[in-house]
Amino acid sequence: MPRVPAERGRLVDRPVAGEKHVLLAAPRGYCAGVDRAVVAVEKALDRFGSPVYVRKQIVHNVHVVSELEKRGAIFVDEVDEVPTGSHLVFSAHGVSPMVVQAAADRQLLAIDATCPLVTKVHREATRFAGQDKHILLIGHTGHEEVEGTMGHAPDRTTLVTSPADADTIEVADPDNLVWISQTTLSVDETMETVRRLRERFPALQDPPSDDICYATQNRQVAIKKVAQDADLVIVVGSANSSNSVRLVEVALEHGARAAHRVDYASEIQQEWLDGVVSVGVTSGASVPEVLVQEVLADLADAGYSTVHEVTTAEEDLMFSLPKELRTDVTGATDDRALGGRTSSGPAVAGTARDGGRP
Ligand code: SF4
Repeated sequence: MPRVPAERGRLVDRPVAGEKHVLLAAPRGYCAGVDRAVVAVEKALDRFGSPVYVRKQIVHNVHVVSELEKRGAIFVDEVDEVPTGSHLVFSAHGVSPMVVQAAADRQLLAIDATCPLVTKVHREATRFAGQDKHILLIGHTGHEEVEGTMGHAPDRTTLVTSPADADTIEVADPDNLVWISQTTLSVDETMETVRRLRERFPALQDPPSDDICYATQNRQVAIKKVAQDADLVIVVGSANSSNSVRLVEVALEHGARAAHRVDYASEIQQEWLDGVVSVGVTSGASVPEVLVQEVLADLADAGYSTVHEVTTAEEDLMFSLPKELRTDVTGATDDRALGGRTSSGPAVAGTARDGGRP
């Protein structure tokens, strides 16, 4: 989807019964895994030159992909589309061992930008399969992350796509089950799925820690708080971005009268604003902040120039670059530290590095 240039004045300031304002959720936008993956492609282009191939969208955002294409990245669906000997980046959503092997067979120079929090789920799947457990993976059919995770234990995994699915799935050994999940699901819906699974399979084991990642959880907590006071919620994010789509659902479940997802500000419709006093705004974990600022500029044209930030957590997590990119051409080591933390608190949220990125 091409970016439609900002058309100032497209939205009209119509009177409503109250003082128009925006409730801006924080945290929003780029997470540590997305930041790392996008920087990995940029660094690969800087170091190896164009083209650098990327399997699937590096992150699920049309604008990010389009900007990287302009710099010389080529996005492909599968490894066999990449010329032998080329550089190939695996996306933040991760890949199965079969894909890694296919890249090696083709003598590709692979750079693994899988988010470390997805890699953690891969390791869980491998470990549970090694213990002869059967895995119930809660996730969405066809999502790249789900395909990658299932590929780590293909014979020992059953996909559970929803609470309703939990009521009907069949398993061979109900006393030897463990559940894990995709990282970008609705927390509430996942807990409902687990509850219904456990009703049928009381011996179901929990994973040692949450698989739904900190960024997904934090953005859902923030939009829940915003939604309870919002007539309308606008979520900036792409249609194939699982966590962005979940934000629309969560907003509607927690009080927003209406909620819409947009890739760009130009998609906001005048009629969405009819009678609206309070507009909630947030963005998915793969969305650069510049797109949110364009939404705020358009809303200001429509009279929503007062912006209150609603902050529910502080984020300062950063991941080190993929190991293939950790030294620069002079041999110096990249100084990005692995680790960091997330914490609750009344401070400004959001990763520090996402401000001007495409
Ligand atoms: S949304 Fe979560 S799992 Fe996905 S890239 Fe971001 S931090 Fe990693």
